[in-house]
Amino acid sequence: MSILYNTSVIKLGFKFPPVFLARYYRNLLKMISPSPIDVCLKVTERCNSRCITCNIWREQADKPELTFEELEKLFYQFKAIKIKTIGFYGGEPLLRDDIGELARKVKSIMKESKILLITNGLLLKKKAQEVLDSGIDIVCISLDGIGEVNDMIRGVPGDYQRIIEGIEELKRLDPKRKVTINIGSTLVSHNIHQVPQLIDLARELDISWSFNLFDTSAYHFRDLDDPLALKQIDEKVIDETIEHMSRERKKDPKSMVGIDPVGLNFAHEYLKGKEPFFHCVLGYVRIYIDSYKNVYSGCWALPPIGNLEREELKTLLKSPKYKERLQQMYRLECPYCTCGYLINCLVNHPFSGLQFVFRNISLVRS
Ligand code: SF4
Ligand code: SF4
Repeated sequence: MSILYNTSVIKLGFKFPPVFLARYYRNLLKMISPSPIDVCLKVTERCNSRCITCNIWREQADKPELTFEELEKLFYQFKAIKIKTIGFYGGEPLLRDDIGELARKVKSIMKESKILLITNGLLLKKKAQEVLDSGIDIVCISLDGIGEVNDMIRGVPGDYQRIIEGIEELKRLDPKRKVTINIGSTLVSHNIHQVPQLIDLARELDISWSFNLFDTSAYHFRDLDDPLALKQIDEKVIDETIEHMSRERKKDPKSMVGIDPVGLNFAHEYLKGKEPFFHCVLGYVRIYIDSYKNVYSGCWALPPIGNLEREELKTLLKSPKYKERLQQMYRLECPYCTCGYLINCLVNHPFSGLQFVFRNISLVRS
């Protein structure tokens, strides 16, 4: 995760003067071409979790899955546009029998790339050796609470225990810690009071912790049973949680990934029901690809902008429609979401952005 944030923000650094100045002179945006470095790739829609914060598991039955050969062709397209990081998303990527083989294929085609695996952790213990042997660089496991709180949110009895066992197994097989492990928690009313315990747990396990902000704009988070109940959080609890995160970050920044004062400030506002304004720049650094080969401009909430059955990624990125979409995102003409909000916060606040890059570079080196 930190690698993702670092590379995205550094990359944006080169585009930064025109991106920042575009808020005063909008025509500058027309001169900035998209050159994404991250791809979020849905390698399956299948999922063995039953999260109350997501609909993917309800809608998986009629969805296709890209074959190994189709994905291999996509990797060559990613290489052509110099993608640096590929995220295997789902559904649950570890449900694919060929996940290790896919990662090895990425590494053989794109030698310098980093691979990020976003997993619910249910199969981690069983597949730990495969993950290690495959060359996957970062494993980000969703953990939404301690014990039964997590199991209730994830909808799977025993989920917490299985995740912990998976992490322990991965660490046992990887004493030199080649693979970076992170646990990520989506903050909702049921678990926000457990943030201090989640941070402590990550430290006990000697891994890092990060959080996401729950929202329902992306298509797979819409039409949930009771989204309002997930968002109803006491203001005092929000204040205390943000203060706690801020204190803990100062004490030990290494164990808390992507947590920055400007991001915490945003989270504070958002959790209280506001939608702070920013210029969305995700389209300049990130693309999403779903199981139909639809291409999204770093945004799951707006419709796809092309399809790789019909056009090459390289051509699509140069098209006027892609550039127009990026300008629309910049103007925040969209349903609004919290996806990648930290990158947006850092780019919208240049001083914090620069500090963040320097701090994280020194953390990675130390
Ligand atoms: S949030 Fe992830 S793990 Fe949970 S149901 Fe959705 S895809 Fe599966
Ligand atoms: S903020 Fe708007 S444009 Fe940016 S990713 Fe979210 S919905 Fe898309």
